[in-house]
Amino acid sequence: MMAHIVEQAKNIPIAYETDVLVVGGGATGVAAAIAAARVGCDVMLVEKYGFCGGMATAGMSGTICGLFTSGKTGKREQLVHGFAGEFYRHLQDRGGVSDPFPFGDTALVVHDLHVWKEVADDLLTEAKVKILYHTYCVGIVHKNGLVEAAIIENKSGRKAIRAKRFVDATGDGDLCVWAGAPHVMGKNGSVQYPTMVFRMNHVDVQHFLRDGLHRVEELIHEAERKGFDLPRKHIYLLPSPRPGEILCNVTRIAKENGDPIDATNAEDLTEAELRGRKQVREYERFLRQFVPGFENARLNDVAAQIGIRQSRTILGKGMLRNEDVMQARKSKRAVAKSAWCIEAHGKDGIYMYYLDNDYYEIPFDTLVPQNVENVMTAGRTLSAEHEALASARVTAQCFLTGYAAGAASALSLKHGIKPGDVDYDELKSVIDY
Ligand SMILES: Cc1cc2nc3c(=O)[nH]c(=O)nc-3n(C[C@H](O)[C@H](O)[C@H](O)COP(=O)(O)OP(=O)(O)OC[C@H]3O[C@@H](n4cnc5c(N)ncnc54)[C@H](O)[C@@H]3O)c2cc1C
Repeated sequence: MMAHIVEQAKNIPIAYETDVLVVGGGATGVAAAIAAARVGCDVMLVEKYGFCGGMATAGMSGTICGLFTSGKTGKREQLVHGFAGEFYRHLQDRGGVSDPFPFGDTALVVHDLHVWKEVADDLLTEAKVKILYHTYCVGIVHKNGLVEAAIIENKSGRKAIRAKRFVDATGDGDLCVWAGAPHVMGKNGSVQYPTMVFRMNHVDVQHFLRDGLHRVEELIHEAERKGFDLPRKHIYLLPSPRPGEILCNVTRIAKENGDPIDATNAEDLTEAELRGRKQVREYERFLRQFVPGFENARLNDVAAQIGIRQSRTILGKGMLRNEDVMQARKSKRAVAKSAWCIEAHGKDGIYMYYLDNDYYEIPFDTLVPQNVENVMTAGRTLSAEHEALASARVTAQCFLTGYAAGAASALSLKHGIKPGDVDYDELKSVIDY
């Protein structure tokens, strides 16, 4: 049993008061904050980095999945609209996104990391959201599932933000768990494996697409026979909107004993960063030596942090089941739709399941945590079974579910009810998907 020390109780200044506080500025938090502000609330967003995007920028996930139709035959067309479509249009207007690129039976677009941050800054500012960067939320003040304030720490010290509604967009469900919401870690405690993403520049992209792309897996096996240590065989090499640049989503990071990384444990995260950066160098060496088009390529940059696909899943009033995704079920209380595949990064490989000319919907009740009155969650913490989450966690759906969580928080405040009790038809009138 760990020894304890008692910290002295102290009064914490209430530095800010707001209607809705969004914690976390990833795709989910950006969408939630903008939605709540558009419905007419005072909104604050706190984010530990100095920019928005979370996994999409700091983790360099680097593409928007979940926008397009999926099928063995037929054209890939944009299926998803609403805030995801809006953000995509802004990226397009600024030249910050590639054309749709095939991915199995569907497609994705690769975005410029810097333009993503600029679009988020501008949309939040336009919506008059008060942003506080470089600020960590470290706790809450709550009673019986009702959160009164969030405790934040930054270079100005330890302060409180009092709010009437909260959106937990931390990706790890920090607020929900502190407030007493039940949660699970993946499937029987095992979450998806993370990736340290990097970018190579000075790539001859046309040469790679013509002569390299279709042979990558075979070349990995050849390199392994020559002594390379390349644990992931099915890798994603995606042309970015910048000339000569390839986004490399290729590593798979485990603990030394092979177990998955627990992203709520700082020691695991540290191990993942160290092992991740080492593995990046091995794949870089492989790409330069074996893959046509990469002969003169250089390592451009490596993600600011290990890319975490999954940590805590917050159990909600509803749950997205694996069958809902696989059978393309629709919901009477939908807030999002998706044709993205189940893409579960496991210990020994990636389990893929594509939808065929159909899509599923995500119900509102997956965003309403159990046992907590005034907190919503969305994005990669929404209530879902493991494989279902491996589809619903991607960026387009984070935008949509985040937007719904923000809008519901604001509407509930207007009517003096719990966010989970908002009238679905009214919610539907302020969201689109
Ligand atoms: C390696 C990898 C590759 C991926 N590839 C793709 C892809 O190609 N396309 C795609 O669409 N999706 C992809 N995804 C999934 C997608 O990037 C994420 O699921 C999505 O970005 C999650 O958004 P989010 O806002 O829910 O969470 P996050 O992006 O994790 O955002 C959470 C935010 O909260 C902040 N935060 C956390 N805790 C606190 C706290 N206590 N106080 C203050 N701030 C806090 C974090 O800094 C972060 O900005 C990938 C994910 C990974 C990890």
